[in-house]
Amino acid sequence: MVKRALITGIAGQDGTYLSEFLLGKGYEVFGVLGPCPGAFVEWAKQYGGRLHAIEADLTDMTSVLAAVESSAPAEVYNFAAQSSVGESWADAIATTEVNAVGVLRLLEAVRTLAPDARVFQASSADMFGNATEMPQTEATPIRPQSPYAVAKAYGFHIVGNYRDSYGLHASNGIMFNHESPLRGTSFVTRKITDGVARIKLGLATELRLGNLDAQRDWGFAGDYVEAMWLMLQQERPGDYVIASGETHSVREFCAAAFAAADLDYRDYVTIDPALFRPIDVNVLYGDPTKARTVLGWEPKVTFLGLVEMMVEADLARLQSSGE
Ligand code: NDP
Repeated sequence: MVKRALITGIAGQDGTYLSEFLLGKGYEVFGVLGPCPGAFVEWAKQYGGRLHAIEADLTDMTSVLAAVESSAPAEVYNFAAQSSVGESWADAIATTEVNAVGVLRLLEAVRTLAPDARVFQASSADMFGNATEMPQTEATPIRPQSPYAVAKAYGFHIVGNYRDSYGLHASNGIMFNHESPLRGTSFVTRKITDGVARIKLGLATELRLGNLDAQRDWGFAGDYVEAMWLMLQQERPGDYVIASGETHSVREFCAAAFAAADLDYRDYVTIDPALFRPIDVNVLYGDPTKARTVLGWEPKVTFLGLVEMMVEADLARLQSSGE
């Protein structure tokens, strides 16, 4: 029988990669998004009726119930979120509505309408804040430092609570930063690779950035969706750190991205104090040992491979669009 998966936030970065991954495995995929855009209709055409759009909003319980009921899923992947840490200070209430209470709405819908479905929640390493341990594991204390991370910490805990309270097969991926050419341009990695491509093509002369000393554990989104799927194939649910196991500064990312276009970042990057966050997490550095040993998961794309992939994609996009 064809397996059915429900993916919230399907039009985002991870939703797109996971859909392609599951469709490649023969799944029927139901994706939650806003009013169905033409691009989705075009995308769905190539899958002969195995990719469907469901109009729903995680802040609206009626639509969440309808999404679960109509898709009758065997697996549910919750990506829907206001996913920007920086934006979460500007709209903390809306961030909490979707990133925290939205998770609860989805769990309630699954508990009542599809209690045998397996659930994946996209939790975030940002929950660790300025962690006291390096690297961070599943046992590292949660000390969130932004409205985004506080809301994600609620989502993380309510997944564990519904697992314990109702026996749901619900798992958290404690996701460290993962990027791709589909990453939004407000995120620092994509802002850098888009900026490099613009400078290389003579469309810009400088790149304004905030804190270059922040360190992050960056991996490729295409690798990370495989780990999410593997988590739902386990007999027992659980929480897993999904990370590359390396940490690099924003400065290193910059240097590598400019070098990929034969440029020196020091000639183009300007530090803009207005771009610093009210509180920043200094270092995120994950230990994916549990995912490696229990799931047999191995990321394939290296840090440099990821940077080069993103710079090349932005160069190709800008060249073909003639922007
Ligand atoms: P994206 O921002 O690309 O995708 C998030 C999606 O959620 C968007 O398609 C958005 O739709 C949708 N969404 C927002 N609000 C609602 C709502 N109220 N109801 C339904 N859908 C909504 O994020 P990513 O794909 O990068 O990340 C996926 C998940 O993983 C997110 O939950 C994110 O917080 C989490 N995560 C990501 C990390 C990363 O490095 N990428 C690291 C750790 C966690 P629209 O654009 O139309 O608003």
